[in-house]
Amino acid sequence: MASKRAVVVGSGPNGLAAAIALARAGLDVVVHEAGETIGGGMRTAELTLPGFRHDVCSAIHPLGRALLDVDIEWLESPAALAHPFDDEEAALLRRSVDETAASLGGDADAYRRLVRARWHGLEPLQLLRAFGVRGSLRALSSAERVARRVFSTDRGRAFLAGNAAHSMLPLDTRPSAGFGLVLLTLGHAVGWPFPRGGSQAIADALAAKLRGLGGEIVTSSPVDELPDADIVLCDTSPRELARIARLPDYARGYRYGPGAFKLDWALSGPIPWRDPRCATAATVHLGCTYEEIARSEHDPGTVPPFVLLAQASLWDDTRAPVGQHTAWAYCHVPHASDVDMTDAIESQVERFAPGFRERVLARSARGPRELEAHNRNLVGGDLNGGLMDLRQLYTRPVAKLVPYRTPRKGVYICSAATPPGGGVHGMCGVAAAKVALRDTGC
Ligand SMILES: Cc1cc2nc3c(=O)[nH]c(=O)nc-3n(C[C@H](O)[C@H](O)[C@H](O)COP(=O)(O)OP(=O)(O)OC[C@H]3O[C@@H](n4cnc5c(N)ncnc54)[C@H](O)[C@@H]3O)c2cc1C
Repeated sequence: MASKRAVVVGSGPNGLAAAIALARAGLDVVVHEAGETIGGGMRTAELTLPGFRHDVCSAIHPLGRALLDVDIEWLESPAALAHPFDDEEAALLRRSVDETAASLGGDADAYRRLVRARWHGLEPLQLLRAFGVRGSLRALSSAERVARRVFSTDRGRAFLAGNAAHSMLPLDTRPSAGFGLVLLTLGHAVGWPFPRGGSQAIADALAAKLRGLGGEIVTSSPVDELPDADIVLCDTSPRELARIARLPDYARGYRYGPGAFKLDWALSGPIPWRDPRCATAATVHLGCTYEEIARSEHDPGTVPPFVLLAQASLWDDTRAPVGQHTAWAYCHVPHASDVDMTDAIESQVERFAPGFRERVLARSARGPRELEAHNRNLVGGDLNGGLMDLRQLYTRPVAKLVPYRTPRKGVYICSAATPPGGGVHGMCGVAAAKVALRDTGC
């Protein structure tokens, strides 16, 4: 009997994870990718000068390490994260809960209680489940509420705010606290690692796994109409699915979030941090106080912006020529905004690293429109595939018990616009593939 055929549209982490699940089930799988290279949000490229390799989107992968089964070399910095202040030592997220707590001064005990040191040693998934009822309620809270109730110092509150800001939600909005708590928990459980060679290494490893199972990937192959196959899985935005499947009303009320403005630098040397602790962490949060971060997330595009910065080249010599470095940073801006945040971001780095600008050899700047032109899933520059507020956490992209199904039989959506949402983890893809296999009896 001939094998059943599946087509996956898009080669992001969810598309590739879905394709692997389908190929494992014995289907003939072809992935069509619009871009010239595979990977979606996991691409690494020479964006500035020859020999300088930059992660175009995703850079740091706590979720990827916890949830993706890939054979790659994970690198880790001594601290996962540094949060510098204007006139105090930086707070550090380390694998050890006690060491992390110690860097939070008067909030050390509060931090220990918050992340529950006794979870240490659990598997990452068990650990996330181990939030328990109280933890889950906290996770569904706003960062503002948790910061106010749990911490008594500006230091503790600012540290939580930087992590919660990954939600791309105002910090007084639920469930911004959950993003912070999950990231901190993962920091203790699996670290915040990054692949040697950049995020492209994850894409290449997933692609190798798929090809090993007989799957095929076709690049420079944008899909404009539904392919003929037993199963079609779309690693696309709901808007793109509506276009391809000629379903103009599909997910009409779906809301996209703020955009990102991203800078990549080729540097003549490492970033000259005023506080040398910042050179021990691959990720640095530049926002100083709770209030400053909250303002930036409430009004994306505000100056000074809260800046998320990564400096993987300090531990990965594949990123830049010997002695030179790369750095990656972004801040949040309004959806589809044209605002140029280059000067604001660089001023924010300079504030904590005087002399930084003198080390910039070249830069690449991408606002929402450039990000979307690079990858059509980044609608208006939204890197989470759609707003991740409380309502849309459970109605991605439609309010259905099984949101992966679409009105077209055999056609499914599997991108970050489905549960559990944004990030390089592949879970949306695996969940959608399971539903598709069950529905079609493949
Ligand atoms: C600046 C930035 C920084 C980020 N940092 C991190 C981070 O540090 N850690 C982390 O975990 N996550 C990070 N993310 C988020 C992460 O990259 C995404 O959540 C993740 O890649 C989503 O995966 P996906 O498979 O749903 O879609 P994507 O990775 O976006 O892949 C979708 C693919 O589908 C293709 N496609 C779309 N439509 C079509 C079509 N019609 N035909 C053919 N192909 C099509 C696109 O070209 C794309 O390659 C970041 C994102 C950005 C933009």
